[in-house]
Amino acid sequence: MFKTQPDWHARAATVALPRHLLIDGRALPAASGETFDCISPIDGRLLTQIPAGDAADVDLAVAAARRAFDDGRWSAQPPAARKRTLLAFAELIAAHTDELALLETLDMGKPIADSLAVDVRATVDTFRWYAEAIDKVYDEIAPTAADSLALVCREPLGVVAAVVPWNFPMMMAAWKLAPALAAGNSVVLKPAEQSPLTAIRLGELALEAGLPPGVFNVVTGFGPSAGRALGMHADVDGVFFTGSTEVGKLFLQYSGQSNMKRVGLECGGKSPHIVLADCGDPETAAAAVAGGIFFNQGEMCTAGSRLIVHRSLHDRVLDGILAAAAEVQPGDPLDPATRLGALVDESHTRRVLDYIDIGRAEGARLACGGERLAGRGCYVQPTVFDGVDNRMRIAQEEIFGPVLSVISVDSAAEALAVANDTCYGLAAALWSDNIDTVHRMARGLRAGVVYVNCYDADDLTVPFGGYKQSGIGRDKSLHALDKYTELKSTWIRLR
Ligand code: NAD
Repeated sequence: MFKTQPDWHARAATVALPRHLLIDGRALPAASGETFDCISPIDGRLLTQIPAGDAADVDLAVAAARRAFDDGRWSAQPPAARKRTLLAFAELIAAHTDELALLETLDMGKPIADSLAVDVRATVDTFRWYAEAIDKVYDEIAPTAADSLALVCREPLGVVAAVVPWNFPMMMAAWKLAPALAAGNSVVLKPAEQSPLTAIRLGELALEAGLPPGVFNVVTGFGPSAGRALGMHADVDGVFFTGSTEVGKLFLQYSGQSNMKRVGLECGGKSPHIVLADCGDPETAAAAVAGGIFFNQGEMCTAGSRLIVHRSLHDRVLDGILAAAAEVQPGDPLDPATRLGALVDESHTRRVLDYIDIGRAEGARLACGGERLAGRGCYVQPTVFDGVDNRMRIAQEEIFGPVLSVISVDSAAEALAVANDTCYGLAAALWSDNIDTVHRMARGLRAGVVYVNCYDADDLTVPFGGYKQSGIGRDKSLHALDKYTELKSTWIRLR
């Protein structure tokens, strides 16, 4: 039969796998010569070996970034010139869509359809958006008295470190790299050890697009060595982290113990997905709840992992979720029809299964799923616990897998109280047809992003980030530029 779809398995067998650090425009092994295994969660296959960069490599990368920043090869370019280079970079990423999507799927197990439609697309869009924005941002003149002129100008921070997770490796990196580079900073990127491939490839493509050497460096390696070295480095001006709340707190300590570098944090969540009694379309809400917890294998910072549903709609909504769960059983991530892929690795799979055991032990009722698929690879069924009490660990702790906790309530006020009863505050969703209730509840939810009658709406124009222990600062939109720039106030006395 004539094939219209690429054969991703055949491509996977031949795709070139990047395997080096990128420092000052050069592909290097780790100074120590150490490497670690890069294993695909699709089938447990060893893909390649990646340099285990540590403090010595971080020193080299930061020194290269500092030289690049200080001599102005990028930082002193006019914004319109940086824009042209970043647009060329975005086009090069777009031209390598299939390759990058394949690397992402092989590395961390997400369905190839998602890598193509979400991860690569969003990465391209992010670079395009900040490239286009940067020559349209004006500085300010303050309304001071007539005998003076006070200029309020943004300047790049200097050397910026980005430490990112494995759930959307390229996209999380792009959310930091694009505004940081557009603003004129030099960057050292440390990808998660579970997903280093696309970070290295992005670094190579940036050089090809004309980004000067040293402006964008990539150090692969483990968190407690390479990540910590960036956090503690005395010559890093800002460290911008996406990952767990636990490690986010470490970056605050690193900053305090070193040079008080600026810290931006995008951390974990336990987002409430609320369906109120006046929701007019419980079936659509149920489908959105299922999408909000099963998309990306539930490895989502914004996963709507707590369904808080009015008792009167409980059965209808749960039925809809169970029907959706039956349709998204885990499958081969390289099959374009697959919607639920593999979890990122063996240790994370064990962690998710441990939480499923905890849920059972806490007395929640397993409504579906709960099992790992037999055979090779890291596949866990979509899992729903009903009859959950918000004080249970499965309702309070971030599982980061396809596991939903269903909590029934009797009023909107109770829903709000339960929703906010968490240390996190990343996202929240609300289904209601009553405009007064919608506004009252949206105001009351302690979360950085609130979705009403939808879930995971997304646009680069809208800031993204969390309240409480979900983070400090915002990615996306022009607000992200605040993180990567200093404000300088210059007073001129008019004699
Ligand atoms: P993680 O915190 O384990 O690791 C994130 C990064 O930090 C990795 O690069 C890792 O190597 C590094 N790291 C780990 N230990 C370190 C240490 N001791 N010192 C310095 N660096 C260290 O997180 P993860 O497991 O990769 O990702 C999952 C987490 O990320 C979840 O909690 C999820 O909610 C969060 N996340 C948040 C957002 C957001 O925008 N808020 C987006 C995606 C993921």
